Amino acid sequence: MRLVLAIILCKLARAGLRIIGRGGTALPGTLALKVCPDIVSRLSRNIRTVMVTGTNGKTTTCRMIEKMLTDAKIDCMANRSGSNLERGIAADLCANARITGRPRKRTAVIECDEAAFKRVCGEINPAVVVVTNVFRDQLDRYGEVTHTLESIRIGLERAQRAVVCLNADDSLVASLAPDAPDRVRFYGIDAPLGQGSEISDAPRCIVCGAEYEYDFHTYAHLGGFKCPKCGYSRTEPEVAIAGVDSLSTDGSVVEMRVDGEFYTAAVSLPAAYNLYNAAAATAAATSLGVSAEGAVKSLAYIESGFGRMERFELGHARVTMVLVKNPAGCDRAIDYFATMPEDADVVFCLNDGTADGTDVSWIWDAGFERLFESGQRKGRVIVSGTRAEDMRLRLKYAGADEDSVEIIRDVKQLTDAIAGCTGEVCVMPTYTAMLPLRAELAARVGKGEFWK
Ligand SMILES: [Zn+2]
Repeated sequence: MRLVLAIILCKLARAGLRIIGRGGTALPGTLALKVCPDIVSRLSRNIRTVMVTGTNGKTTTCRMIEKMLTDAKIDCMANRSGSNLERGIAADLCANARITGRPRKRTAVIECDEAAFKRVCGEINPAVVVVTNVFRDQLDRYGEVTHTLESIRIGLERAQRAVVCLNADDSLVASLAPDAPDRVRFYGIDAPLGQGSEISDAPRCIVCGAEYEYDFHTYAHLGGFKCPKCGYSRTEPEVAIAGVDSLSTDGSVVEMRVDGEFYTAAVSLPAAYNLYNAAAATAAATSLGVSAEGAVKSLAYIESGFGRMERFELGHARVTMVLVKNPAGCDRAIDYFATMPEDADVVFCLNDGTADGTDVSWIWDAGFERLFESGQRKGRVIVSGTRAEDMRLRLKYAGADEDSVEIIRDVKQLTDAIAGCTGEVCVMPTYTAMLPLRAELAARVGKGEFWK
């Protein structure tokens, strides 16, 4: 009875919010959990679930898995509405449920926040878990990387039947393998990506503390690690990007190895880090019975998720918007920007809202220096957001001529400035900076597909 009441309340709250022009799942989900605290466990009981967690790449990996399943005619639900905490997951499970609690769709792809994972994983009892990577994220929220790792480890202990897809190249993530004996499926990238990075969140062996040696680096602390002292090292992955044929701002063509067979894959998303997401998604989908050939084919038709990486045109500007939220993710965006022509313009929007992490000191850990390695930029450099001055100061220390960095605070003026650019423009906002900018750009660009 409590279950039925919770489902009805949740559906009503969602409908009500929609009527007054607001979306969101936090309130409906909180209501549902209050009435029926074990609602997540009860509604997911008859659903085959893939859970995706980790610091970066969760949303894109989920979209890829969803696409692979749908293309294989497996009807699935996903928590696309944005909240990956327990209340958001509860609200989306309610939306998938009939009043009686029976699920409409019997397969689910669930993105789950790393901190919420330990709890939600035990309730859902997933069929497949994907761990993307562990990087230092907003410190004020999660603490150190080992804390994040521990949360994931506890979650895995509660997922006793799951196939666990782990990033073989991430020494932190790979160390979770003993927690799921005989159920691990490794994925990774077999070759260097040629995008060196200064950041390492894990320079020292998680087992014994000695410094790692690397056969190759892909980015940050990811790559072919091995510990010279205790022998902890990268495991050869079952699903791998075996070689990269081409990499551009529109996507890449790669050679993929899945369980010993080779396939050529076109990945429709730009940037090297999406190759990790592609390998992770392929490992997950093939664990659910999708053919490797089918999974790989789907990679050519992935649309970018909400704000993570979007491309659109505005006037003569070809704009790419990349959400940034932590040093490693920001480094990926900088790597991506580096593939653009040297006169490309760049916009940084730094806010310090709760959803951004109120401590903006993380910008000092991202490698903005690489933007100015070969002198001043030919394109415009614009900073915006509530912490625009901090961003300008950071760029000054990275090598920018302070006077050439423009501060544009007003969102309308910023949109005007972007519209006035010619050629490639890369916009890197934090979460709450992205929302108003996105709304303004949407009004200007005026095309529906922008906001999928
Ligand atoms: Zn060691």
